[in-house]
Amino acid sequence: MNWKIPLSDIDFGPEEEQAVLRVLRSRWLSMGGETQSFEREFANALGVRHAIAVSSGTAALHLGMLALGIGPNDLVIQPAVNFVSAANMTIAVGAIPVFSDICSVAEPTISPGSISSAISEAKEKSTGKPKAIVVMHYGGYPCRMEEIKAMCQKHGLALIEDACHGVGAKCGLEKLGSMGDIGCFSFFSNKNLVTGEGGMITTNNEHLADRVRLLRSHGMTSLTWDRHKGHAASYNVTCHGFNYRIDEIRSAIGREQLKKLARNNARRQALTSLYWEKLSPLMDKNWTLPFYETSRAGDVPGCHLLPIVAPDPETRRKCADMLKDSGIQTSLHYPFIPDFTAFAQYNERIPLNNASKFCSSVITLPLYPTMSEACLLSVTDHLINAARNKG
Ligand SMILES: *Cc1c(COP(=O)(O)O)cnc(C)c1O
Repeated sequence: MNWKIPLSDIDFGPEEEQAVLRVLRSRWLSMGGETQSFEREFANALGVRHAIAVSSGTAALHLGMLALGIGPNDLVIQPAVNFVSAANMTIAVGAIPVFSDICSVAEPTISPGSISSAISEAKEKSTGKPKAIVVMHYGGYPCRMEEIKAMCQKHGLALIEDACHGVGAKCGLEKLGSMGDIGCFSFFSNKNLVTGEGGMITTNNEHLADRVRLLRSHGMTSLTWDRHKGHAASYNVTCHGFNYRIDEIRSAIGREQLKKLARNNARRQALTSLYWEKLSPLMDKNWTLPFYETSRAGDVPGCHLLPIVAPDPETRRKCADMLKDSGIQTSLHYPFIPDFTAFAQYNERIPLNNASKFCSSVITLPLYPTMSEACLLSVTDHLINAARNKG
């Protein structure tokens, strides 16, 4: 389908083209200077000690969980409103996902109260050992990190940030992805920083960083690059790793995208404010604008998504169809994970009322830094009309 207004769009220019050519002409395609520079520049931008580039956000979650020693009989508490990646990787390492509710339809990030219930339930029923919490900063809006960090400390849990929506965003003075034991980022084509496929793991913990670097590349103790440079003659294999490396072309694109990130995130913030101004009248008709009233002063959100929640699933479906007929692409972030066939056995240990309500009625509207105000106003006009005329 040829959309008049797409859900997202990429900001690539001559800089990215030059970066790709630079790598092609260098004839060094994997684990070289571009990746080292990308990792250093990303770590500096986040103010973390270690940034390790990988092939996807999913690879980042997988290696993060393995490095933390998460495995069989461990419970990984995570939001029911998320992309399926963290849940899948929980199962990939042999652990058990425990889905928690979100704070509210207006604040669709993991609820600290629901985390508490999950921990108590695990103790009462001996369902496994609570080992880690995965938070996901939905849309790039920070989770309730103070409360969640305190719970991690109290119960000795590891904290993984799925910060795939939140590159460059801040919770108070701290960057998302720098607040837990492990931060995970994706550079998939619809994210705020795009390399096509790609991802990054961030940590301040030297031991975790070493584990991740080993696991990223077959468990080998030295890289082709080091041997090429004469730093190492051979290698040992000290654990059973993977090939989750990024390549030089993607790292070079990532470096250019990183330079544009602050400007593009600021543009996303300005567009979000305009969306909120235009759509807030719908709140009188029982629509909800997530984060509109819950945003905390001093936070700088990544504004990755523009979600709006319809009063009910039927209104959602009708309005999304009407937007589609006008050539406006929308989406649903996300389908309710416990409803997926593969997750049926992990369903509903604790009540997930807010999460299931959110997932059945949310519409994601177009948002990208190169979006014009005229396009935005066309989306809001069409949605307000659809909300008025539905049925
Ligand atoms: C995109 C995304 C992922 C997965 O990243 P990939 O690079 O596609 O593997 C995981 N979690 C969230 C919240 C995402 O948005």
